[in-house]
Amino acid sequence: MRGISNEPEAEPATTILETSGGRDDRSAALVEALAGRSIVLVGMMGSGKTTVGRRLALRLGLPFVDVDQEIVEAAGMPIPDIFARHGEAHFRDGERRVMARVLTGGPRVVATGGGAFMNDATRARIGEKAISIWLKADLDTLMRRVRRRPTRPLLQTPDPLATMQQLLAEREPVYAQAHVTVCSREASHEHVVEDVVQALEAHVSARAAPPTVQDDRRIEIGVELPGRRYDIIIGENLLAESGTLISRIAAGASCVVVTDSNVARDHLPELAAGLEAAGIRHAAITIPPGESSKSFATYERVCDAILAARMERGDIVVALGGGVVGDLAGFAAATVRRGMRFVQIPTSLLAQVDSSVGGKTGINSPHGKNLVGAFHQPALVIADSSVLATLPEREFRAGYAEVVKYGLIDDADFFYWLEAEWRNVFAGGPARTRAIAKSCASKAAIVRRDETEQGDRALLNLGHTFAHAFERLTDYDGERLVHGEAVALGIACAFRFSSAQGLCSGQDTQRVVRHLDNVGFRTTIQEIPQWSADADAILEAMLQDKKVQRGALTLILARGIGESFIAKNVAAADVRNFLEAELRQGGSGQYRD
Ligand code: NAD
Ligand code: ZN
Repeated sequence: MRGISNEPEAEPATTILETSGGRDDRSAALVEALAGRSIVLVGMMGSGKTTVGRRLALRLGLPFVDVDQEIVEAAGMPIPDIFARHGEAHFRDGERRVMARVLTGGPRVVATGGGAFMNDATRARIGEKAISIWLKADLDTLMRRVRRRPTRPLLQTPDPLATMQQLLAEREPVYAQAHVTVCSREASHEHVVEDVVQALEAHVSARAAPPTVQDDRRIEIGVELPGRRYDIIIGENLLAESGTLISRIAAGASCVVVTDSNVARDHLPELAAGLEAAGIRHAAITIPPGESSKSFATYERVCDAILAARMERGDIVVALGGGVVGDLAGFAAATVRRGMRFVQIPTSLLAQVDSSVGGKTGINSPHGKNLVGAFHQPALVIADSSVLATLPEREFRAGYAEVVKYGLIDDADFFYWLEAEWRNVFAGGPARTRAIAKSCASKAAIVRRDETEQGDRALLNLGHTFAHAFERLTDYDGERLVHGEAVALGIACAFRFSSAQGLCSGQDTQRVVRHLDNVGFRTTIQEIPQWSADADAILEAMLQDKKVQRGALTLILARGIGESFIAKNVAAADVRNFLEAELRQGGSGQYRD
């Protein structure tokens, strides 16, 4: 097995079929749209990956690689012998290396062994470098095909049918994460290849639409509201320019900056320098970090400090910080002198993609969160993605839950893009800026349609009724659960509940939950530290949420990825049964497909 352990950089061995070129126009357009990515076929043994892959490669004029064949060449023995002599783990290890190597070359059509896509590292690499296609076939078809070739090592068991069923149950949820699914039906190979080409065309044209934005450095989104308009500016290193950007909307105005002590430490000097460079008179008010600052006491202190800084009605309140600072400073701006202009410079991911857009401001009362507030739209939002470099990773991840939410509400392509790109979003750079821009654009579109939450804006609450109950039952203790983590878990619950009600396919739900898992979220209630509440307590907490009317719940549910809807009159009993099953089975219940 010496050859299998080649490092990824080495050139693949013999089984690449060089093709004659001479593509037709349609194939040429598709290959161009692949932009260098390979096409990787995944699926069970017997699903036709090699046969379809070879024909697809010929049609597109791309080289073809059969990964199993590569492994055989490298090992110098057939696959059953590798299994017999060295065991499955050894084979999988070789497979992973060969996959890594094959994916570093230019665009190819790659047929994988049935187990390759089950490897997390391989799957992530395929997600980044290629378009994956699941060739999906039903049990009967698979059995019919594999019986023709009785040498499959994994089927050398007393009951191959049961083994195949077991393998299907394990693998289908993972195959479902492929970018594209095509049914491998009992038709001629040419028909299946045509299905694959059509599915690929649909996939690449969807990817060409947003979230690809023209200029990764600077993106401006206009929010049009009746009688008003404001811009959201998103990009890297905007803090230093903020003085210039602010003077564009309010020449000659003074600024009072409200921030918290963490953000003041890391970013206030740069903002102050930017304001000074633009000749803007400014003062700063620093509050303690954390949710407890959204209080009457801190609100009073901030209002007094704004007045003490001799700010006039035409001057500007600048919120530099996360959602806490934005909500508090925004509410102060809404009320001091009956309304001052207000600029948001959000510094947490959550604030950049959610709380800074839309004009909801407010503080908490002993009766509950966000119960005292006002709608007050900002005059400008400056989202500098570079300031996220100092944000603790846990806070970044929490904000990412709201990013995923936009894909799940009404933009499946954005969700698929995130599945492939999330590591880059976490790493920073253009992918991060794009994800922020896409999220802001989604929120702005919803706010434009429904500024004061009479209708569609409620969709933004996907996952939130469950989330608010989890937050309440953990006493808003950020050590145990922060808002975004509660939202991720709430989204998992909303999808599982949708599936349990027969509204959403089990496949879509598993795909959503798996992505949340991959990113590092808790997706079952039992995983919340020191959890003890039962179904009744959770339901009770959900019924206290403001989205409740006369005992029945309004929940945001899903018919699929990107197909969320407002479900009114959800029976409390159904929710209760669901929660009991969740607590019993840890979210792994059987849901209808
Ligand atoms: P947050 O403001 O408390 O920020 C989280 C933590 O990160 C804080 O400790 C903060 O000091 C720190 N921080 C922020 N930016 C930083 C940076 N760049 N570098 C280092 N540290 C940084 O919390 P949040 O998650 O941003 O916002 C949560 C609040 O937002 C909640 O009060 C919630 O109710 C509110 N919210 C409002 C809306 C809305 O529409 N108005 C929407 C969603 C959430
Ligand atoms: Zn939220």
